[in-house]
Amino acid sequence: MEPLKFTVGIDIGGTNTKLGLVDSEGHLLRRVNFSTNPLLSFADYQILLTNALEEVTHDIPKEDLLGVGMGVPGANAKTGSIPEAANIPFLTEIPLQTVLVKLWNLPVFVAKDANAAALGEMLFGSAKGMDHFILLTLGTGLGSGVVINGKIVSGSNGLATEYGHSVLVKNGRSCNCGQRGCFETYVSATGLKRTAISLLANANQHSILRDLSPNQLDAQKIAEASENGDEIAKMAIKKTAQWLGLKMVDLVVLTDPEAIILAGGLSKIGDYFLQTVRESLDKKLLPMFKGKVKVVYSGLGSDDAAILGAASLIMNVKN
Ligand SMILES: [Zn+2]
Repeated sequence: MEPLKFTVGIDIGGTNTKLGLVDSEGHLLRRVNFSTNPLLSFADYQILLTNALEEVTHDIPKEDLLGVGMGVPGANAKTGSIPEAANIPFLTEIPLQTVLVKLWNLPVFVAKDANAAALGEMLFGSAKGMDHFILLTLGTGLGSGVVINGKIVSGSNGLATEYGHSVLVKNGRSCNCGQRGCFETYVSATGLKRTAISLLANANQHSILRDLSPNQLDAQKIAEASENGDEIAKMAIKKTAQWLGLKMVDLVVLTDPEAIILAGGLSKIGDYFLQTVRESLDKKLLPMFKGKVKVVYSGLGSDDAAILGAASLIMNVKN
């Protein structure tokens, strides 16, 4: 039997950076998290990242470490850089792959976070055995990875499927990318919070959410309030789910997927959200697609999916 080799998967999000040590059989052995402060400089972030890498690999001989795979929102796998990191400004235009290969003296592979997670789902999660599916990560922003014929769609410049920045509402909410009305400003953990705040401002009815400061209000609190019968919280979740269902129609008519898999913070808010997404999609689908597209939560748990997905970028390169 071949001795075990190891890979590090790193998921860089707008809120947290998560690293995990993964063995060649896809087991996540240990993990380290730290918060991604958007006000950091890249020089400072690089130090935090290097310390965390040392923490997860401290007892692994260098020759047994195959490399580091990273999932980053907005990353271009062809260049290993991030042309525009809307929610992580200090990464914009950084040639991340080149910088880190030099710094760590290890193979490093950088890809869009949702593409990495899609690969993780395909190798270890809900998309095992599927050749056509879509993964949406609903966290600080909305990431999308599209797999057709068993391959990630990357586009002519490596920039494909930035679906979170397609327009949902003309002249709508302002987005970190500089545009208005982007899909992710409505459908993401941040979008849900913005919807709840706007509903609270425009209604007088009682809500448990009024007792929370804007800093305390998050997707989890809104989900808990909804489960406890809070009408504003329930309405915020319902609207978010309906917007998502509506935008999924475009994905289905374009790619005819077997499944749409939801990962990230919003995939932890329970069955009411998922059920409403399914109903909203079903209502708008052409009859020929009805009943053919599964809408499911990630089979890996969203934290594991992102790390395993990032690690599988290296496994994929090596195999
Ligand atoms: Zn945008």
